[in-house]
Amino acid sequence: MPQRLGILGGTFDPVHMGHLRSAEEAAEVLNLDQVLFVPGAAPPHKPGCEVLAFEHRWAMLQLAIAENPRFGLSDIEHKLLPGRSYTVNTMRRLKEELPGAELFFLVGLDAFFEIDSWFLFTELFRLAEIVVLGRPGFNTGYIEDFLSGKVSSGYVRDPGDWTFRHPEMCSVYCLRNTRLDISSTRIRGLVAEGGSIRYLVPREVVGYIYERRLYRDIRRDCQKKE
Ligand code: ATP
Repeated sequence: MPQRLGILGGTFDPVHMGHLRSAEEAAEVLNLDQVLFVPGAAPPHKPGCEVLAFEHRWAMLQLAIAENPRFGLSDIEHKLLPGRSYTVNTMRRLKEELPGAELFFLVGLDAFFEIDSWFLFTELFRLAEIVVLGRPGFNTGYIEDFLSGKVSSGYVRDPGDWTFRHPEMCSVYCLRNTRLDISSTRIRGLVAEGGSIRYLVPREVVGYIYERRLYRDIRRDCQKKE
């Protein structure tokens, strides 16, 4: 049973090298025994702009992580928490199922800066160490103000480091990871335009997308601005 367990939640529509490389670097730097990818139930979207069926997103993740013994996949959000899933509930559940494990919640900078809108978000900082993954276009420098303003004024930055400690809450680590300017939005857009997605997603995932003709007909107004 893994003692130091990383958790990367997301929509993974589709999984791409930005997810995989960040998870690999987090595992290495923080000495994690495993990183669990947790695809979520489809978040609410505009009508006609639905997220791909869970089964496809799951199958692509399976292909993407197959050769990495440190990567795992969990359907906890799909099976145990159907409908709208809240990260805090997922983390509580994992904590119950793996009482001895130390949990590390991996989250990209973009999502981190929205965390204060998540259900019972401060509890997350009591359930798991938070690992913030750098992403192009988002400034790590704002983390300090964000933490003290929105989460707790008790967070203090370690001198000369990008780790924030708190007397009662879990630590927040800012990973100095390779910044890959890749998003699922961009992958979907490229496929729809007939562009190449080679080297942006694993080869097996490229094959899966083309064989099933996924993302061919996405509507332009469904695409999130990058
Ligand atoms: P979309 O473009 O559809 O919004 P996405 O590329 O942001 O998707 P998600 O599945 O929403 O992918 O992301 C899951 C988690 O991985 C989030 O915490 C997100 O911030 C993080 N993440 C996504 N892409 C990267 C990247 N290139 N580098 C680091 N973290 C990333």
